[in-house]
Amino acid sequence: TRVPPPKNEPVLSHAPGTPERRELQAVLKRMSGEQIDIPVIIGGKHIRTGKTDTVRMPHKHSHVLATLHEADASHVEQAIQTAMSVKDEWARMPFQSRAAIFLRAAELLATRYRPIMNAATMLGQSKTAHQAEIDATCEAVDFLRYNVHFAEQILSMQPENAPQTWNMSDYRPLDGFVLAVAPFNFTSIALNLATAPALMGNVVLFKPSSTSALSAWYIMELMREAGLPDGVINMLPGDGPTVGNPAMASPLLGGIHFTGSTPTFNAMWRTVGENISRYKQYPRLVGETGGKDFIVAHASAADDLEALAVAIVRGGFEYQGQKCSAASRVFVPESLWPKLKPRLQALVSEIRMGDVTDFRNFMGAVIDEKSFKRTSSYLELAKDAGQASIVAGGTADSKEGWFVKPTLVQLNDPRHRILREEIFAPVVGIHVYPDARYEETLREVDQAASYALTGAVFARDRKAIDTALRELRHAAGNFYINDKPTGAVVGQQPFGGGRASGTNDKAGSALNLIRWTSPRTIKETF
Ligand code: GLU
Repeated sequence: TRVPPPKNEPVLSHAPGTPERRELQAVLKRMSGEQIDIPVIIGGKHIRTGKTDTVRMPHKHSHVLATLHEADASHVEQAIQTAMSVKDEWARMPFQSRAAIFLRAAELLATRYRPIMNAATMLGQSKTAHQAEIDATCEAVDFLRYNVHFAEQILSMQPENAPQTWNMSDYRPLDGFVLAVAPFNFTSIALNLATAPALMGNVVLFKPSSTSALSAWYIMELMREAGLPDGVINMLPGDGPTVGNPAMASPLLGGIHFTGSTPTFNAMWRTVGENISRYKQYPRLVGETGGKDFIVAHASAADDLEALAVAIVRGGFEYQGQKCSAASRVFVPESLWPKLKPRLQALVSEIRMGDVTDFRNFMGAVIDEKSFKRTSSYLELAKDAGQASIVAGGTADSKEGWFVKPTLVQLNDPRHRILREEIFAPVVGIHVYPDARYEETLREVDQAASYALTGAVFARDRKAIDTALRELRHAAGNFYINDKPTGAVVGQQPFGGGRASGTNDKAGSALNLIRWTSPRTIKETF
């Protein structure tokens, strides 16, 4: 490749007295005092549909941050037409010119947009300053810069030549539009879902999650300011099926770029199946879905007990456990448990939870009432005497915000629902196993859950590590040895899993970008 790989955007500390902290606080104050009206955006035009929903602060649900206008089937139709009308010009633009727009967006985001995107993510999605910084700024900037680098790798992959012939791979965009459907939990993911296909020359219908519509609005503002032509990415906030179904019924659907729940992705496959005879081409389906991510400790991790305890607490509770990668089932050998348990309890008791604009807090609220209620039902399950015992937390409080205490539950049955089902909240199940049953436990971890996104093994003994790598070969797309299973970095740990966790098209790598092309092979004979 011609250009050296970029460097990861450095994480700013936001420590007291730093300029970034002052700037962020000023934007937080301003944003808390305004109520943005988020439109449907088609071809750069702002459409106020009048059918509105509110965006609230999860940690203070009486506070309305923004209203958003919801799209319906007629807007989807309009967006498809608009996108298709700009498609050829966009796709014909030289790659260097397209890339420049995304690199400019990266620079804008690393500077002027940094406090804006961080503040929107803190207020709208209840992330702490640090969690917002690593997501809405650093990972988002990394996606923008690295995707250009990955695209260049792809473009440079060219076939061999023979005498009197010249063979070429023409990396065309897909022959249709891409539907990008984003989750609430990562601003960076929403940005990547929409921008990765666009970089490869595609036009996009972008459906953000309604709960994170504020940061989605600023993504659109950022891309507009960076010079993205109108109509390349069109934003359609609203109800999932109302927006998704007409888009998926269009003969022009070229692909789906999705991150969200497994049931939603399954429903999308069904809808695509029902429409299969209508399409001009087979749509590309790229999805990253749920997880039930494990940490398995081996007895040889005895000397690393502190690292293990920290990994469980950070992996399970950072961003309230609302990461597809969050550690949510932990398997500990009997020999380690007597020391690990009090250490975990001590760490959890130090966690401060509350308003994320108070920078001393480590946790905010879960995203909305639906999530709060679902989590509360799992907390009920955790009170099931005989089956479960609460090690820490176990309560929730919704008076001001959707707060769920960081909860550790010990479960006798390794197949308990808390150890199998994705909760997407700060609830971690722990199973204590007899030391001698390490291999059986690994097999249990492999079979008990249908997901296979991330996982971690803690061990000093090399043989124990190798056994875990072997037994859990298909149990995680991102496998961590002696570290928490969250926090994949673009360019370092391409991200994605298999089984019910998605199509494993590795976000943050050339493997994802290549999905947004439909290569044409050209042979010229002289
Ligand atoms: N990439 C994130 C991580 O490694 C998780 C993404 C997600 O939750 O979907 O923690």
